[in-house]
Amino acid sequence: MVINMIKENLEKVEKNIQAALKKANREEKEAILIAVSKTKPISLLQEAYKAGIRDFGENKVQELVEKYEQMSNQEIRWHFIGHLQTNKVKYIIDKVYMIHSVDSFKLAGEISKEALKRQKTIPILVQVNISMEESKFGVYAEEAEELIRKIAKLPKISVQGLMTIAPYTENGESNRYYFQKLNQLSVDIKRKNIDNINMGVLSMGMTGDYETAIEEGATYVRVGTGIFGMRDYSERK
Ligand SMILES: *Cc1c(COP(=O)(O)O)cnc(C)c1O
Repeated sequence: MVINMIKENLEKVEKNIQAALKKANREEKEAILIAVSKTKPISLLQEAYKAGIRDFGENKVQELVEKYEQMSNQEIRWHFIGHLQTNKVKYIIDKVYMIHSVDSFKLAGEISKEALKRQKTIPILVQVNISMEESKFGVYAEEAEELIRKIAKLPKISVQGLMTIAPYTENGESNRYYFQKLNQLSVDIKRKNIDNINMGVLSMGMTGDYETAIEEGATYVRVGTGIFGMRDYSERK
């Protein structure tokens, strides 16, 4: 039952994504769906995979490593979307496709150092606390350019754009302003033509607001509940 549900949910989300792109006069496929599978068992990830999902998002190092190992024979792009401690970078560096949540120069330096050891370039996004909520990670909008200029000089780390976590909502409209702000920040930074910096990626929008995020330029939306159902944190180790 749950398994059929995932396929149906995915069809619905994909349909909404295409409708939002169309509404915004954007091209089909300009926004990619990341299935946020945190706390969910492998069996459900397998179902999403069977239904065509290749981008998965996880926010805990150990959980990503375990799932990576269990699904290592599949072609998956693992996105790390959670707060990352510098001492844990080494565990995921050779497993992730992109790290969405870089919010300090210290963390960027560690990613660069570990990437250099492996002679691999790691694509990252700078996480911006666009809504300035105290509980949220990320740099403030005014600090983003300075951080990006510093990261630009590090080897083997490649800034691809910006990410934000907007306030929780079930009504996307209420977050439109924040998505516009992140998009504008990205345009402003792009205009500076900083060497080694791309601003093509905007990772924004979750279950409650991904359609609005797409209307405002999101290139990645990160949807968990809308695909896998509610998360149960009660029996977490
Ligand atoms: C959990 C999470 C999501 C998905 O949230 P839903 O509301 O379940 O879609 C997206 N982004 C980040 C960073 C998350 O931690």
